[in-house]
Amino acid sequence: MNDFLYILAVVYLKSAFISRHSDKSANILLDKISLSLLVLTIGVNQYLFYFIDSSQLARVFILNISIILITLSIIKHVPLDKNRPSFGEKLATLALKLSILLISMLFVTLSFTSDPFNFLSALTVVVAVNTLLLFGSTLTMFLSEISDMYHKESSVDFLTGLLNRRQFYDSSETIINLAKRQNFEISLMMCDLDNFKFINDTFGHDVGDQVIKDCASIIKDATRDTDITARFGGEEFCLVLPYTDIKGAGELAERIRSRISESLLKTHICDVRYTASFGLSTLNLEQPLNTAIIESDVALYYAKEAGRNRVIQYSTDMKLDN
Ligand code: GH3
Ligand code: MG
Ligand code: MG
Repeated sequence: MNDFLYILAVVYLKSAFISRHSDKSANILLDKISLSLLVLTIGVNQYLFYFIDSSQLARVFILNISIILITLSIIKHVPLDKNRPSFGEKLATLALKLSILLISMLFVTLSFTSDPFNFLSALTVVVAVNTLLLFGSTLTMFLSEISDMYHKESSVDFLTGLLNRRQFYDSSETIINLAKRQNFEISLMMCDLDNFKFINDTFGHDVGDQVIKDCASIIKDATRDTDITARFGGEEFCLVLPYTDIKGAGELAERIRSRISESLLKTHICDVRYTASFGLSTLNLEQPLNTAIIESDVALYYAKEAGRNRVIQYSTDMKLDN
């Protein structure tokens, strides 16, 4: 019974790996290798138990071999995303490689011994270590996955996939601290969709949402991976641009502005054209981030006042109380 549960646990582990690495959940019963090994192990072990009483070690051997084979058949499912494996996946892959190494070393060293008892005892120990490694690393993998999921949910805006306001402040703080050490320039960009109430009122909230998503994807496409791009409010976006002076920020804003105004968004109701206004400021590393945000906001206000669909840089003669 113990053997059965032990193998079943490994089979479940395998199915967990398969589910993790494909969208559909794994069907354990259809997994031929695991099923055959399960049946074989139970059958042979029962036979040994009832008919060859003295061969306890042989039973352990069969059980262990089954576990090794199932373990090895898991390997091909790890990891899914070779470019960006999670911490748990890295650990699981390492554990699996280590398992193979352990078993190979054991076979090489024990092929020189003629004592089968030694061989089976050593094999039992190695497989126990192997299984521990595998369970430990898999558990870590799932825990790190859950923690990643939680972190993603709490930092990413649901509609656009950009950072949310909270994560914007966290990420900005990190980049500002780096800029203080490495002394590079940071610019800040505020972007607000023009007459968005009109879009919502005319075409409905659904179309409004699609416009917000479209704008976010244009922003994402136009920016670098090192830029911090966030949905700041309803139809308002805020960008922190490291390694970018105000001239560079102006060029980027102009690029985004023209792409937005030239794009014709196809929706289920109608094709929509929309525009956005931009406010820019330079981040002073000696002052709080909020100062640059307020300055960009002031510049944005001026862009709206000047007729919308334009980019304006903050200057000190602009009034903060506008
Ligand atoms: P302006 O050019 O001056 O920015 O005019 P505006 O109409 O865009 O003005 P305002 O910024 O006040 O309007 C924002 C509107 O965006 C109001 C709100 O109902 C709408 N909104 C906020 N969040 C969402 C959202 O998630 N989806 C949709 N569809 N609308 C939203
Ligand atoms: Mg607006
Ligand atoms: Mg707004």
